[in-house]
Amino acid sequence: MSYNISINKAEKSNLDKLDFDNIPLGTSFTDHMFICDYENGEWVNPRIMPMGLIPTHPAAMALHYGQAIFEGMKAYKNTGGEPMLFRPEQNAKRLNKSADRMGMPNVPEELFVEGLKELVSLEHNWIPPQQGSALYLRPFMYADEPFIGMRAATHYKFIIMASPAGPFFSKRIKLWAERQYIRAAHGGTGEAKAAGNYAAAIRPTELAKAKGYDQVLWLDAAEHRYIQEVGTMNIFFKIDGEFISPELDGSVLHGITRASVIDLLRDMDYKVSERKITIDEIKEASANGTLEEAFGTGTAVGIAYIQEIGMDEETIHVSDESPVGLEVNNKLNAIKIGDHEDKFGWMLRTR
Ligand code: PMP
Repeated sequence: MSYNISINKAEKSNLDKLDFDNIPLGTSFTDHMFICDYENGEWVNPRIMPMGLIPTHPAAMALHYGQAIFEGMKAYKNTGGEPMLFRPEQNAKRLNKSADRMGMPNVPEELFVEGLKELVSLEHNWIPPQQGSALYLRPFMYADEPFIGMRAATHYKFIIMASPAGPFFSKRIKLWAERQYIRAAHGGTGEAKAAGNYAAAIRPTELAKAKGYDQVLWLDAAEHRYIQEVGTMNIFFKIDGEFISPELDGSVLHGITRASVIDLLRDMDYKVSERKITIDEIKEASANGTLEEAFGTGTAVGIAYIQEIGMDEETIHVSDESPVGLEVNNKLNAIKIGDHEDKFGWMLRTR
């Protein structure tokens, strides 16, 4: 199915105001955005418009009851200068999984992917040329029906905006294993990329930063022992030659980088287990010398190497080196720019 996406071009581009060698984080946006409305049970009027404000009624339900979900992904320029998307259909599927949990309508996968392709084609000059840079894409959906009362909204907007992102240099990070606050409980919304999950994480993250840590290591809600994920990344540990990532038990976001890293590690003949893992197991592995490396995975940073984990009064040393993580990161980055065989068929052209 092909959607008829209308295009209303901006009169003037802001591209000349962007210094590609010094891209501010998350504050510059491309000239256009993709918008589609949900009314009377269907998505209507898909269009590309100049980036700008959206009139919003103060009673828009997303502002009160929190029906708001989003995605995060990147467009890359390959070595031939062509704009490419990394596994966009996976983001479409995840958005719809989030939508299901939050009582929101699904966005047809083809509409999601076509909207992205159309926007990225139009904005391809905004994809930074520097290696490791990309055009960050933020598809999101929210309830814009003005209504006071607790029920699913009947009107929504699905929007895609794009923001150039400079090269990210993977650094070693220190994690704070959080025993008081939680991110997700069984039966909750941890598996959804719902705005409220992030709101609830802001304060604990600020507290961890104030203690000198980079990110929160989220533990389970019931026992505060089982590791879930880290900040806005999934997590991997290498213990005695084997990689372990917490299983997707309903409280963990289904990271697309996570799934890709599992495929790459298995392709490199590593054993990868998705299972429950406790902070005590990590402590023990660190003490007996079998904890070889650990890293977080996510769209924003790719792979972030974990140096240590602080918990209560103690510090668990993880590792100073992350050789396999580094190798996987390089491979993943090379696939994204067409510098390595895309044997899994992850990359999609935008035109
Ligand atoms: N966990 C959380 C809570 C996240 O917000 C993200 C970022 N989307 C991830 C994990 C990593 O997911 P992905 O690899 O798809 O970016």
